[in-house]
Amino acid sequence: MNNDTICALATANGIGALGIIRVSGNDVLPIVQKSFPAKKLEKQKSHTIHYGYFMDGEEAIDEIMLSIFLAPKSFTTENSVEIAFHGSPHIGKRILETLIKNGARMAKAGEFTLRAFINGRIDLSQAEAIADVIASENEASRKVAINQLKGGITNEISLLRTDLLNFVSLIELELDFAEEDVEFADRTALSGLLDKIELKLNSLIESFQYGNAIKNGTAVAIIGKPNAGKSTLLNALLKEERAIVSNIAGTTRDTIEEVLHIKGHAFRLIDTAGLRDTVDEIEAIGVKKAKEKVENANILVYLTDAATESFSEDIEMIQSLLREDLKLIICATKIDEVTPTKYEGVEDIFRNAITQEFDFIKISAVENQNIQDLKNELSSYVEHLKTEESNVVITNQRHFEALRKSLDAVHQVKEAITFRISTELLAYELRNALEHLGTISGEVTNDEILGNIFSKFCIGK
Ligand code: GDP
Repeated sequence: MNNDTICALATANGIGALGIIRVSGNDVLPIVQKSFPAKKLEKQKSHTIHYGYFMDGEEAIDEIMLSIFLAPKSFTTENSVEIAFHGSPHIGKRILETLIKNGARMAKAGEFTLRAFINGRIDLSQAEAIADVIASENEASRKVAINQLKGGITNEISLLRTDLLNFVSLIELELDFAEEDVEFADRTALSGLLDKIELKLNSLIESFQYGNAIKNGTAVAIIGKPNAGKSTLLNALLKEERAIVSNIAGTTRDTIEEVLHIKGHAFRLIDTAGLRDTVDEIEAIGVKKAKEKVENANILVYLTDAATESFSEDIEMIQSLLREDLKLIICATKIDEVTPTKYEGVEDIFRNAITQEFDFIKISAVENQNIQDLKNELSSYVEHLKTEESNVVITNQRHFEALRKSLDAVHQVKEAITFRISTELLAYELRNALEHLGTISGEVTNDEILGNIFSKFCIGK
């Protein structure tokens, strides 16, 4: 590993009260010293802050505060310095240019965190958690990211992995004594451990559905014929005039996506063009999009005007959009315009026609009636995804895939035991399972995986 000295802006690129530049590597102190005559940096203790001017030769660039973190007690475990300057992007640029002139180089995306991982301060899932913490936009995503940063996933897995490793050693010992036909590894105990691992893997895999909802939000497609009240509902939900509302059929030509937060969870609301057969070119694109949006949605909120006489088109449309894993909520809209007898009848019509389970809510977006019921219904969808067993939630696609592969490998080992396959093959299958489990924490990894993960980080992280 190359420990050359890297530098980057750690704060957002824009004007702020302060900006912070981070510098890390073997030569950080002599490099920064060239621009900081106020103190002899080699003589300073770790975790101390120093006041002075940052100089480019004879010219003072800014009045700064400089923090020193000496190895190994720094984010990267290397000698590091943080420079807090007056938050002008121009000053930040001048400081970076000077540092590079002094012998540092610009850090690549995620390079500080990569160093923290390579130097063993954090494992791979924790490095990924750092990116998630930074990206968290609501309470739910912040909580799972912090839990993962604390080592949640790795703790769950490394215990099982250690037990499995013991068995691998025993099985490999058997291979050394192959001639003597001995069994050091108790097959019943091994099966017991595999059952335990299988259970844990299954519960982690199951948590991904909830994890995904936390990380990416739940996609809600709002569909209905033109004038059903989609934009008005969207506005009522978001309480702001975002979508254009009008009573000319087909004004919502394109799709609009807005994020609504309910009880700390994000819902991505997708308003769509009115669904109907149309010759209008632009609107036809909208209809096609609507169908595409439903394909990617978790929840379909289908709106129908309670005053309508015939619902056969709506029913046909719903049936053409339904999937088993799509939650359906049908809303009869504009109930302020019709009598209760009329809108009560609407529910019966849909109940008789649609066999799949659905929720039926009668709303008036204009008078804000039962909008909260709809919010509660959306919220309960996410609450139901929570698994009780595990408080560790998988939010990362890479972890999800590694867990699935581990589970497959565990199944192979179990089969190997059941069919009393040769010890060589059993050892091979066990190693395979260990390897997949190891990829989550990064105990087993390669440059391609690392490149993939860290290239998505921002520079300075
Ligand atoms: P979209 O085409 O489905 O997006 O429908 P809009 O939201 O544009 O609504 C069409 C018309 O119905 C507008 O004139 C709205 O003001 C009206 N509208 C929507 N929701 C309600 C409601 O709850 N009550 C009443 N009385 N009118 C509504």
